[in-house]
Amino acid sequence: MKTLNDFNFKNKKALIRVDFNVPLNEKFEVTDDTRIVSAKPSIIKILEDGGSCILMSHLGRPKGVQDEFSLKHIVDKVEDILGVEVKFVDECIGEKAEAAAASLEPGQILLLENLRFHKEEEAGDKAFSKKLAKLGDIYVNDAFGTAHRPHASTTIIAQFFPNNKCFGYLLAQEIESIEKVMKTGEKPVLAVLGGAKVSSKITIIENILDKIDHLIIGGGMSFTFIKAQGGKIGDSICEDDKMELALEILKQAKAKHVQVHIPVDVIAANAFSNDAKTQIVNINEIPDGWQGLDAGPKSIANFHKVVMQCKTILWNGPLGVFEMENFAKGTIALGNSIAEATKNGAFSLVGGGDSVAAVKQFGFEDKVSYVSTGGGAMLESLEGKTLPGIAAILE
Ligand code: AMP
Repeated sequence: MKTLNDFNFKNKKALIRVDFNVPLNEKFEVTDDTRIVSAKPSIIKILEDGGSCILMSHLGRPKGVQDEFSLKHIVDKVEDILGVEVKFVDECIGEKAEAAAASLEPGQILLLENLRFHKEEEAGDKAFSKKLAKLGDIYVNDAFGTAHRPHASTTIIAQFFPNNKCFGYLLAQEIESIEKVMKTGEKPVLAVLGGAKVSSKITIIENILDKIDHLIIGGGMSFTFIKAQGGKIGDSICEDDKMELALEILKQAKAKHVQVHIPVDVIAANAFSNDAKTQIVNINEIPDGWQGLDAGPKSIANFHKVVMQCKTILWNGPLGVFEMENFAKGTIALGNSIAEATKNGAFSLVGGGDSVAAVKQFGFEDKVSYVSTGGGAMLESLEGKTLPGIAAILE
């Protein structure tokens, strides 16, 4: 796997696909700069080698050229974070972009305009990729968040750099973290899958059963399993058409000697509301008119024991409706358990969608080993897919 460390960038122009798709408020201020901060180590390494950086990214989902999606809005923020002046060119291909790239001196940074102002970007157009490729000497992909898309700047462009392409530090770290769980993880390996629906996690479960020793199924997903086993789940969220599949998963897990842990009790509410009345009940005895919105105390204690005995932990999906304060306890407790296990030497990876939001919201970011930056890309990796953006560098 070629990374930045395999190249010396002295007098070279690095063309880096970063993920600067950051949220902006109505004043076009960056409200979460995590993605820019994450790209910094790669950029600094190249500058310190004596090279220059041409940064390309998308921002939002523009339909053609739309000023509100211009990357010019983030130039100041990128400068602040990198501590280096950032030049901006309001094109990403063509004469203007080429002139700006050509005039770059070692130590300088150029940010190109939003790639998605051209529909050819998402179409993975070869001619467009070739025009982008003209701008730099070495192609660096450091955008995990878009690595699952076969777009021009993430995938197709790599073919124009047969010997001069590599992963940036961020993308390399993402790949290594996933491998630590899926391939080289120290046993016992635990996967915690929560969230709303079985259907969105099914491919992940099928893919990881061969790699794990323990599986915790929590959150809304668990009710499909409980109902399938004959439990009474009241008005809890359930996918009736996935009940057979749930039983099949349990069968497969047993055959593969994976221990499955499902909540035994829940905090049930009489409405889907933070102000609802609540009671703690057994998960298979939820009265009609009540719905399970969080893990109960016995479940939390059980999960804690499981987490503490594992050396490798993957967490995807909350254990309850954590967006409502009264139903966040299970998710917070699990975060605390994983933080404690990590402190004791376990490797923990949090990735894919809402668990990342939960981890950030409750301040666990620095207490787990790695928080993935890519939602969809992470989920597809866990499903066992080789992401096109990663394959393009490995080829
Ligand atoms: P996912 O995107 O599949 O990871 O699902 C995340 C969502 O699942 C969050 O918005 C949670 O509020 C929701 N969720 C977790 N537990 C439950 C539950 N018991 N009932 C309803 N929704 C839930």
